[in-house]
Amino acid sequence: MTDQPTLSLNDGRTMPQIGLGVYQIPDADTSGVVQAAIDAGYRAVDTAAIYGNEGGTGKGVRARDETIFVTSKLWRDDYGYDAALKGFDRSFATLGLDWIDLYLLHWPFVEQDLFVESWKALVRLQKEGRVKSIGVSNFTMDHLERIIHDTGVVPAVNQIELHPGFQQVELRGFHDENKIVTTSWSPLGQGKAMDDAVLVRIAEKHGRTPAQIVLRWHIEAGLAVIPKSTKPERLAENIAIFDFALDEEDERAIAKLDRRDGRIGPDPRSFA
Ligand code: NAD
Repeated sequence: MTDQPTLSLNDGRTMPQIGLGVYQIPDADTSGVVQAAIDAGYRAVDTAAIYGNEGGTGKGVRARDETIFVTSKLWRDDYGYDAALKGFDRSFATLGLDWIDLYLLHWPFVEQDLFVESWKALVRLQKEGRVKSIGVSNFTMDHLERIIHDTGVVPAVNQIELHPGFQQVELRGFHDENKIVTTSWSPLGQGKAMDDAVLVRIAEKHGRTPAQIVLRWHIEAGLAVIPKSTKPERLAENIAIFDFALDEEDERAIAKLDRRDGRIGPDPRSFA
């Protein structure tokens, strides 16, 4: 396997550019999938309190003697300053590891409007050395501006829905200006991107699969990716993307797949 790239975070740390996403994997299966991913070369894993599989994730990481970058996320019920500190403690205990590399606010949850207080708790956790890096997920420019204005602390990462059908060009520009790393969730468009005729044609041209073309596109754009699979052959396929490159014609064709209404998941401006 070719060496995997890392991205520099604004707090001086680095993060592997590709990781395994474990959303919707039952807790009992997660340890096995995480071990298979590590064996296939993955060095990062993305879980969340709400996925219910932090236990399996930690178990899988502990079963292998490799340095794994672990991300987890705080859910709605634990928003608020004191509640967030407790929510973190629970995730930390469930994971059963000595560390969490990156801890995120999962959504802004606009209705309850507690994300600024919750962010202050994450800032404290990082200052106390309990978590290495802190960030957010599903934040729009408005939400980012608010936490930066109120605390002066810029998140290291914003993890957002991003795939060829929904490319988030404007938000990525804001991230770049503010030194926030963009992580693409549902990087494969939850598997739907695979049937796109443009991607199939580019895949045939390079002798690759459409999934590899899409993941390579994220990597070349400087985005972190966390594709999900439970199948060993797909885990291997999704990480075998560091020995070829897209050309300008491919880039132009993929740029045209962006759709204003291409969002698959909820809209963070209204998701409560
Ligand atoms: P994804 O885009 O990674 O697609 C996963 C699906 O694509 C799989 O279930 C499988 O059906 C298919 N697939 C995977 N590899 C393939 C291959 N090589 N060929 C063909 N099909 C393939 O979607 P996802 O699981 O929604 O997102 C990935 C990760 O992002 C999640 O596991 C989770 O960690 C994270 N996520 C975060 C948020 C958030 O709010 N922060 C929301 C959704 C997902």
